[in-house]
Amino acid sequence: MVRSSVGNEASASEKARIIKILESVGTVLQPLELAQIINNLPQNLVSDKEKLTRFLLLTAFLDQQAESPSARKTAIRIYDVFGDDLFFKPQQCLMQINRLAALKDEYKISPAIGRVLPRFGWFVLRVGGFLTYEMMLNKAKLAEKLGQCKTPREAAALLQSNPLVEAILREKAVRMYISWIGHPNLGIDVSNGKWDKALFEMPVDGHVGKIFSRTGLVSEVIHEGKRGGSRWNVIVASNMRPSIQEVTNKYSSDCIMVDHGAFQIGINCCPDNLEGMACDSCPRANTCQIKPKIGCKGYCMLRDFCKRNLTWRAY
Ligand code: SF4
Repeated sequence: MVRSSVGNEASASEKARIIKILESVGTVLQPLELAQIINNLPQNLVSDKEKLTRFLLLTAFLDQQAESPSARKTAIRIYDVFGDDLFFKPQQCLMQINRLAALKDEYKISPAIGRVLPRFGWFVLRVGGFLTYEMMLNKAKLAEKLGQCKTPREAAALLQSNPLVEAILREKAVRMYISWIGHPNLGIDVSNGKWDKALFEMPVDGHVGKIFSRTGLVSEVIHEGKRGGSRWNVIVASNMRPSIQEVTNKYSSDCIMVDHGAFQIGINCCPDNLEGMACDSCPRANTCQIKPKIGCKGYCMLRDFCKRNLTWRAY
């Protein structure tokens, strides 16, 4: 791992403008993203905070090293198979886990995992881990346990203090899960308004790191290696998280929305391989899913303030 200068750094006023744009993009798209998961669920599940908190944990478990849309669809199919037993009779579900074998082809795992394990093997580890964690909870209510924590950070630590959860969910995924169930604008709000938006921690993935680096929001990039290797310019997002959080907190009190805005612009507008860059004119403008929602004018929303440090890649 190596530290290098980002290239051109944005001025303080440019940083403020970029972060406000990211926040506004995230504020529109983050609730829609969660709604995509929740809207397809039966009403009795959506209206029950405890069931929904557990269901989203299952979704987060399945999402690791898997294609997100397929993980989300698979979580719903698992609920179709087991119904509420998924939450209240985990031991029984575990003993019948072979009933889920029919779902394995819909669940798309990363090629790297596929080379090591058959697809159903990875699937069983995820779902089995979830059911075992539920057994450990015994009669405790997960939504209440998390909501009683003083801050989102404390709730993340509580989840991670369980070795099983720690083994399954990366820190980034834990932060994302805590934002789903706790951010006051996302509808579940396990803390019932106790957690301030400013207290959340950004998940920060490679796309977020890429946007913070390419735009010049940070002065320094932590990347995989020295110039020359094939992946030298790939950002180590987890190590850049503190500096990304720091600059975000300086200009925004809603870092979760900033994170999501950067993620969306990172995957939709600012390609890793630089093909079809949307900086001045987006070649995907006619088909883009997010364009009509965020008021995009056919070029990258960050165009006027971005420093275009195009060296840096997410993956
Ligand atoms: S202006 Fe270009 S380089 Fe900058 S974030 Fe947008 S697409 Fe990426």
